[in-house]
Amino acid sequence: MPKQTLVMKFGGTSVGSVDALVSVTRIIRDARKEWSRVVVVTSAMSGVTNLLLDSAILAAQGRVDALSNVESTLKEKHFSVAEALITDQDLRETTKQEISDLVLSLVDLCKAMAVLGEASPRAMDTVASLGERMSVRLLAAVVNDAGIKARAVPSTQFVVTNAHYQNAHPDFKATTEKTRALLNPLMDAGIVPITTGFIGATPEGAITTLGRGGSDYSAAIIGAVLPADDVWIWTDVDGVMTTDPRIEPKAQTLPEINYSEIAELAYYGAKVLHPKTIRPVLDAGIGLRICNTFNPSHPGTRLIASVKSNGKVDGKVIKAVTAIRRQRLVTIEGRGMLGVPGVAARAFGAVASTGTSVPLITQASSEQSICFAVPSELADSVVATLEKAFASEIADDDIDRVWATDDISIITVVGAGMRHTPGVSGRVFSQLGNNGVNVLAIAQGSSEVSISLVVAAVDTESAVKALHELIVN
Ligand code: ASP
Ligand code: MG
Repeated sequence: MPKQTLVMKFGGTSVGSVDALVSVTRIIRDARKEWSRVVVVTSAMSGVTNLLLDSAILAAQGRVDALSNVESTLKEKHFSVAEALITDQDLRETTKQEISDLVLSLVDLCKAMAVLGEASPRAMDTVASLGERMSVRLLAAVVNDAGIKARAVPSTQFVVTNAHYQNAHPDFKATTEKTRALLNPLMDAGIVPITTGFIGATPEGAITTLGRGGSDYSAAIIGAVLPADDVWIWTDVDGVMTTDPRIEPKAQTLPEINYSEIAELAYYGAKVLHPKTIRPVLDAGIGLRICNTFNPSHPGTRLIASVKSNGKVDGKVIKAVTAIRRQRLVTIEGRGMLGVPGVAARAFGAVASTGTSVPLITQASSEQSICFAVPSELADSVVATLEKAFASEIADDDIDRVWATDDISIITVVGAGMRHTPGVSGRVFSQLGNNGVNVLAIAQGSSEVSISLVVAAVDTESAVKALHELIVN
């Protein structure tokens, strides 16, 4: 059967300006020529979600003085697009009115928060939802005005979630039923449903969000439950790159990447795709593509289910190199730790109590030290918490000290083919050695899809450039 159903998600910058929306409209028009059924998922206009959440946080502290500025910023942002791109006067005025009403509800919510002196997670989600609820109306009006039959359908009407506000989990069964019942008749009638990313609702109808950056995940959920044949994530870069082009101008777009590789990359700070996006499309066997709204003829990056023969694409084992900056390594060391069960559990329990998430851990079998990375700004409080937690071991000299390094970066080399290719880590280390980069710590997961190395912050650029040579050559 030919491919029929396409879900396209547009990110914040893709709907963030007049020019971007002109491009989006053209992309939707072109997609309609190839696909009989198209669903569009939109983010809030770029910057809007941050603005909304900042306003709510200030309001909860009783500060509403900036609110009228926010009000005019939001109106100006959306209205300028409406005025440039909606030629039909009635449509333009109703759209502006709908957006004004949503802005007004932000003002009401913030004032209520100021009175209460608190912002509950549930209230925060209602505030955060306003960005997508505004952009969906704007985009649907622009697209209709361009002569494409489209309808704004807020995802609160069919993405059913639990009540875990700010990080809600979809109920796939209920979502499947509602999505099909609502979207299929529209598509049967040749209409493009345009819906909100990021948000859903509990069975009782309370608005929830799927977590920051969650619009990608929305597209995956909708794609999986319809089901669609393909999900395309439209963003502002040409797909997933071999590394950050700001560090290495020789960075290139990867034509293909497999699911386990992108999972490592998403985790290690390549912000192209929300990590939760992968699971639903993978389970449903749906194609996923990342492409550039500002360069639509570029093929972008395709996600593939498995790597080709022996894991190499284009004969390359290492596919990408990323860096997470502004971390510090915390070390707990002491001979008395050897063979004592529970030290790691207590250490990470103490770290967790500070609300810190740990991106990298290493411990050698001598058990004389445990070492892990934390974001720089949290390192001092993590050390203080650990000193408290291990006060009696420190007093007894079982633990010599707990300390943190200066700023470091975590460099990660990704490639599913490493699993089948001996000698990759050897090449990685010689390459760094030859370029004068000292490695402070190493971690490799048993999946062997990535190797992470810790280097001093000053060595970040040279490490990334040196390792990138292994991809290019
Ligand atoms: N607008 C939401 C955010 O900024 C969701 C998204 O854009 O993916 O987090
Ligand atoms: Mg995003």
